[in-house]
Amino acid sequence: MNIEEERANAMRPARERLVEHYKKEGLVPLSARDELLLIAAARCVGCGLCTLVCPVLAAEPRYCGPRTVAMTAARLPAAAPAARNVIFYCTTCGACEVACPRKVPVPETVAFLRLMLARLAEDEEYHPERLREVRRRVRARGSPYE
Ligand code: SF4
Ligand code: SF4
Repeated sequence: MNIEEERANAMRPARERLVEHYKKEGLVPLSARDELLLIAAARCVGCGLCTLVCPVLAAEPRYCGPRTVAMTAARLPAAAPAARNVIFYCTTCGACEVACPRKVPVPETVAFLRLMLARLAEDEEYHPERLREVRRRVRARGSPYE
């Protein structure tokens, strides 16, 4: 990196530089609120009661389900890129949280994971595959349709 690039880099906000540095690993800066949410998600004991009431899981086998959201994605933020094609199925209806004996905030966790993907949005690797296709069409022809 030459001196000009070093200067330009130093002018970029610290948060932007941090995201750039860690985004390959799927890591983004966490606020105190994010950390509290992840601690709440870690209350999950894997009982599966939420999976019995989730309407999306009953209708869409591609959805990973609320237990997986709570147990895997929430405990491992770096797993968010791998979850990009499944977490958008959740409607955040909240039925899972009502049924959960540990009151794990699954809808909020899903929203957090989506936000995390959005924070990493400049890198298409983190976009849902179908959304990537829509973006490609809009860029190529100005229309999301084929
Ligand atoms: S009901 Fe709650 S504790 Fe049980 S698996 Fe679902 S999120 Fe975890
Ligand atoms: S909030 Fe999402 S995971 Fe929970 S029951 Fe509704 S669709 Fe399923």
